[in-house]
Amino acid sequence: MSTASAVPARQPLAGRVAVITGASSGIGAASAEHLAGLGADVALLARRADRLDALAERVREKGGTALVLAVDATDRASVSAAADRVAAELGDTDLVFNNAGVMLAAPVEDVASDQWQRQIDLNITGLMNVVGAFTPQLVRAAAERGVADLVNTSSIAAQNVFPKFAVYSASKAFVSHLSRHLRAELGPRNVRVAALEPGIVETELQGHVTDQGALDWLAGTRETMEWLTADDIATTVGFLASLPPRVNIQQLTVLPTGQVD
Ligand code: NDP
Repeated sequence: MSTASAVPARQPLAGRVAVITGASSGIGAASAEHLAGLGADVALLARRADRLDALAERVREKGGTALVLAVDATDRASVSAAADRVAAELGDTDLVFNNAGVMLAAPVEDVASDQWQRQIDLNITGLMNVVGAFTPQLVRAAAERGVADLVNTSSIAAQNVFPKFAVYSASKAFVSHLSRHLRAELGPRNVRVAALEPGIVETELQGHVTDQGALDWLAGTRETMEWLTADDIATTVGFLASLPPRVNIQQLTVLPTGQVD
């Protein structure tokens, strides 16, 4: 009997321990709720504790297990302490959805160095803090249970060119290329690594953009396509993690049907 058919289809992630970063809104919140619905115990990581508490309550009301970790992902020591708490309270993590990120836009000649730094600090350094803190658990869990997952949220911006979004796009190119390398390193140890590259998704992400030209461009896209929802991406994360252990989708692009570039 295959591993996939040995567990009930409704709860393919029963017994798994999932850490979701950026769990207080958007894609992370939807994914945490979805993964919990598929049977995983979930650890919720972001800065806004009130949002995480409300989400944890919803998970528990449905019979799930949720641990709240109010942590700034750019603070390496805090992320490391959070990883220790997950291991102590839920057991070794075997699914990391490394998803927290920020998108800002400005013409390069504006020299918006504070915005550049915020994106580099979270999208690159924060993402690496999570990789560093949780990889030992993923490797241990994969050795014991046969499979573990690291899903990194990149973007179609990793592949495409969006004027004014240079630093954001470059930070996501880092995520996609890093994921390819980590997959080659960790795959032989039964840790699957995937880069998830969504197109436009309706979340709080666009709300941080201040550049008027970029805002106008975003508003214009609403007239030509129906944006994805966070639930659309949550379903994809659940799909990746529910595949048989031998299957690693390395890179997954999820676009609104009407999105051209
Ligand atoms: P949201 O703004 O809704 O979510 C971002 C999440 O990141 C929030 O939970 C936020 O929580 C968290 N976060 C921000 N700063 C920090 C920090 N310093 N430490 C810890 N957590 C932090 O946007 P999305 O859900 O859209 O974004 C999720 C990911 O998806 C991002 O990596 C984004 O780049 C990517 N993406 C999004 C697309 C879209 O169109 N929406 C398209 C392609 C990729 P808090 O503020 O509470 O800390």
